[in-house]
Amino acid sequence: MNTPFFVNEPFTDFSVSSNRKLLRDALERLESTRSTAGLVAYPIINGQRRTTPNIFEREDPSTKDIQLGTIHFASRDDVDEAFSSIEEGRLGWQDTPISERASILNRAASIMQDRRHDLNALIIREVGKPWKEADADVAEAIDFCRYYAERAFHFASPIATSDIPGEENVLVYHPRGTAVVIAPWNFPFAIACGMTVAALVTGNGTILKPAEQSSLVGFALAELLLAAGVPPNAFAFLPGQGEDIGRALVEDKRVDLICFTGSRAVGQQIISSAATPYPEQRAIKRVIAELGGKNAIIVDEDADEDDAIRGILASAFGFAGQKCSACSRLIVVGKQYSRFIERLIEAAADLIVGPSAQPETVVGPVVDDDAYQRLNRTIEHARQECRVVVAARNGSEGYFIPPTIIVDPPLTSSWWSEELFGPVICTTSVATFDDALRLATDSPYALTGGVFSRNPRNLEAAKRHFAVGNLYLNRAITGALVARQPFGGSRMSGIGSKAGGPDYLLQFVEPRTITENTSRRGFVPEIASS
Ligand code: NAD
Repeated sequence: MNTPFFVNEPFTDFSVSSNRKLLRDALERLESTRSTAGLVAYPIINGQRRTTPNIFEREDPSTKDIQLGTIHFASRDDVDEAFSSIEEGRLGWQDTPISERASILNRAASIMQDRRHDLNALIIREVGKPWKEADADVAEAIDFCRYYAERAFHFASPIATSDIPGEENVLVYHPRGTAVVIAPWNFPFAIACGMTVAALVTGNGTILKPAEQSSLVGFALAELLLAAGVPPNAFAFLPGQGEDIGRALVEDKRVDLICFTGSRAVGQQIISSAATPYPEQRAIKRVIAELGGKNAIIVDEDADEDDAIRGILASAFGFAGQKCSACSRLIVVGKQYSRFIERLIEAAADLIVGPSAQPETVVGPVVDDDAYQRLNRTIEHARQECRVVVAARNGSEGYFIPPTIIVDPPLTSSWWSEELFGPVICTTSVATFDDALRLATDSPYALTGGVFSRNPRNLEAAKRHFAVGNLYLNRAITGALVARQPFGGSRMSGIGSKAGGPDYLLQFVEPRTITENTSRRGFVPEIASS
């Protein structure tokens, strides 16, 4: 199933001091630019940066008093001009051979490798990812470029279907037209990149709108793609507010495909808006929507507890729990529940909470003040009804929420059922493994899930009945790798086919069948050979 030549990009080993120095130097370079010239992001249309009066100041979530950069948010006129530019460019791009489009992606991957630590530094500062997580974000983007470059060749030649004498039949894949990509902030480089390069390599004119909170990282990606050779009129970059620019992009009559990753609420709005015909709309808009999760880990009676605790900590508190794949429900089977939870609390207390630019940080800040206020309100509310343990020291000036464990919340509560998107996990106990499976799948979401068990019968039952997009047995439930663990959920977690998997690009093309009557009908040889 995997492409034969694809190998995942290795992560940087930060236990090697020379690697630590590379990232420290990059962080210093970034800080020096920030404090002198300033970090600025602009809309890019037809290869040109636009200045606009609509300015958004992005702060550094680790040290909230520091303004990190200035973003020129696109206007509605910019949206219109971006579509006009793409309308001019997309036919040329669609006729560009796949080999050329693929080599642009490979070139983009090489530039990412060259600028790895500068990109890491920007991700660390703009969204507060700790070092390893930022580095994995860039590695995943490199993987997306190389993997989709390889997969695109599957569309290069017509596929013969079934012929009879005098008739030839082929199936060919065409780009859909113009794609709008709307990205989240939590994998600010990888997800924005994966969706964008998938749309581009399949020949679609593409407009990328990053999340507000990660516009600087989005801008770095946009400039890098243009530097790699994406034609200026095949691609545009429009930072802006979701409710304003995102909505205008989705509603435009020139859209053929919307590729969205983000929250369930916004995803459902987009699906509903795309289904509403607007005047002069030229196609039924195809929507790919990768949404949230409320992911559970089951710890069986005979699980290796050390392994389970390591896996739960990584899954629940890595990048402060701000991953769609993060564990936010823990279900422990049997009588060891109370002892296991006390062990978990002790282990969580050792996690280092602090500014993401410090290499030892495990739990950085949450992304912004809105997330910080929302999570604090949630925790305060939960405290009134159940036992809430805040398991580590708080960081200082930034938007820090320490790892938090809500013990035995009512199973009807929102803490148990809704995505909290922060370093907060709910725990409960059940009598049997079957009860655990029932409870784990009793959610509208179906994104990731995990089981720690040494019982082959229970592991087998989980394979059959733990219906989620990505199921992990005896390991953490985050960190899917391109090609190795194609990623994506079902039910309320989305309607896409796995990112980083063999079917992903199929969503960006439309199949056409061509039937030709080849029985002799007087071809003119001079025309055929001219
Ligand atoms: P979000 O839904 O708030 O925003 C996502 C994007 O949508 C942003 O670019 C935003 O500006 C834009 N947007 C907001 N309102 C819009 C509108 N009305 N029309 C068009 N665009 C609009 O999500 P977020 O906070 O950026 O990301 C976190 C969410 O993403 C979580 O729910 C997480 O689970 C989910 N997520 C899912 C996956 C996955 O692969 N399933 C991966 C990463 C994140």
